[in-house]
Amino acid sequence: MSGKLIIISAPSGAGKSTILKSILKNKDLNLEFSISACNRKPRKGEINGKHYYFISTEEFKQKIANNEFVEWEEVYENNFYGTLHSEVDRILNKNTNVIFDIDVEGGLNIKKLFGDKALAIFIMPPSIEKLRERLEHRNTDNQDEINRRVSKARKEISKSHFFDKIIVNNDLDTAVKKTYNVIKNFIKN
Ligand code: 5GP
Repeated sequence: MSGKLIIISAPSGAGKSTILKSILKNKDLNLEFSISACNRKPRKGEINGKHYYFISTEEFKQKIANNEFVEWEEVYENNFYGTLHSEVDRILNKNTNVIFDIDVEGGLNIKKLFGDKALAIFIMPPSIEKLRERLEHRNTDNQDEINRRVSKARKEISKSHFFDKIIVNNDLDTAVKKTYNVIKNFIKN
């Protein structure tokens, strides 16, 4: 196993998924996305085994009991997400680098477990006000949900200093370039 691990974490609305999609297009980085397991229902367009392994709550709990997870979190109430050992092994065994889109707690847990083999990147929104604006523009959440995400974001930002790199997403292209450079530099060592 000689692949490396790249962790991307961010508050909801910071632009993490968009940055991740762009980064995955750079074939020179030799990255493969770690598909997490979760117990929520697929959204429109989401495919089982591509975006997530969509499993039932019972299956999820069984996998916790069997120690099948590298890490797992109840990210939102009754919504469980976790990284399977089998998934990380599947990618690392191909000598490919693994990239994770996971929440802050999960990201820091993976960093703790893998140490220098892992690079933990935090995507920072330019400000809480901007983050709120983005969530409102997205039009996918009601006001209560937006307030919940904003208050979660404050807590997540307070942990950003534990990450190896913080990239402020003020301008998307610049943030993508910075993320690319940081990863490129990390995997060449
Ligand atoms: P969504 O439901 O919007 O796809 O994801 C919700 C949150 O769960 C995102 O912040 C995402 O990064 C996080 N997440 C996805 N997979 C995992 C995982 O395996 N472990 C942890 N801890 N968080 C995850």
